[in-house]
Amino acid sequence: MGKGRGEASTVKETTTHGNYVTPPSPSESAGERSLLLDNHGRPINYLRLAVTDRCNLRCFYCMPEEGIDWLARKELMTYEEMLRICTLLINMGIEKIRITGGEPFVRKDIMPFLTDLSKLNGLKELTLTTNGVLTAPLVPELKKLGIRSVNLSLDTIDRNRFFAITRRDELPQVLETMHQLLRHGIEVKLNAVVMEGKNTDDIIPLIGLTKDLPVSVRFIEEMPFNGTGTYHPMHWDYVRILQTIKEHYPTIQKIQDPAYSTSYNYQVPGHKGSVGIIAAYTRSFCGTCNRIRITPQGMLKTCLYDNGVLNIKDLIRIGSSDDTIKTQLLTAITHRPKDGHEAEKNSTHESMAAIGG
Ligand code: SAM
Ligand code: SF4
Repeated sequence: MGKGRGEASTVKETTTHGNYVTPPSPSESAGERSLLLDNHGRPINYLRLAVTDRCNLRCFYCMPEEGIDWLARKELMTYEEMLRICTLLINMGIEKIRITGGEPFVRKDIMPFLTDLSKLNGLKELTLTTNGVLTAPLVPELKKLGIRSVNLSLDTIDRNRFFAITRRDELPQVLETMHQLLRHGIEVKLNAVVMEGKNTDDIIPLIGLTKDLPVSVRFIEEMPFNGTGTYHPMHWDYVRILQTIKEHYPTIQKIQDPAYSTSYNYQVPGHKGSVGIIAAYTRSFCGTCNRIRITPQGMLKTCLYDNGVLNIKDLIRIGSSDDTIKTQLLTAITHRPKDGHEAEKNSTHESMAAIGG
């Protein structure tokens, strides 16, 4: 990642808007560092940037099998536009960027873009979420870019169930990506959406992976973002997931949750890896939410459940100055809903691939 910190101009704006405060760490000079706070006093330091809505899988909880209205190329943010926004947001206080989608690796020239991003001054952590289908051969290059952790979607380790869920027969490639990441010393978090009648039989086998592999398996409550406009009731909330796990692993222990973690974390004694449960639908983590999102078409979302609160792409394309864009970003960040339930009141449910999960 780049070495520098925020610029002096950020600190000036701090005073103007009163929403940046100097951080508690005495090791960082107040002149260099700023902390971006939302209107509920939550620090905002994490951006999830979706670089495409396209994907080489068709996970049924994320998008329909056919008839998808893909964004036209001109509707996507260009890499240049994304780099500009990332630079501004880093200057405002963003420290970590996760690249997501759609599937990031189906977008052309993603590796040169990641290379440019990894060099941005002030960025502390660059990470990504991938389905792992095309990722394995790129792992050495990702390692060279300084990527230390990758979220890999893996809802099942059964090839037939993988096909039933994703509508593609790609499980071997995904498992190869997992092993490649581990061989290169990159932390692996496996994301599994828990779905009634689809993969609840995989909960225990997925935890079995943590016995010998230092992976974190995270079970996610299904959210209503399948792009079909129909809503599947969520049958498996975190309480039910945990109960099921405890029936099989009664000795499983609660472990410390990292700061801003969206998962409740556990470990089976003697296992190398860990287990997390993400209450994505019941939304128990909104109180410490430190993240914002930018969709592939350049909409800022200050909550996963809102409909997009600022069209950044349009702002750029009408020729706005950096200062104007920063002011608008700050206005949006300081008008955040309290939680996902409040945000959801005025919103519709798109495909997760169009949001950037
Ligand atoms: N294609 C990449 C992948 O699958 O890892 C990145 C994008 S995907 C939208 C990001 C994450 O969102 C995945 O881990 C996926 O499991 C999760 N996701 C998608 N739709 C979801 C839904 N309806 N409920 C919960 N999680 C969902
Ligand atoms: Fe593609 Fe990821 Fe959505 Fe699955 S969850 S369809 S891999 S974008």
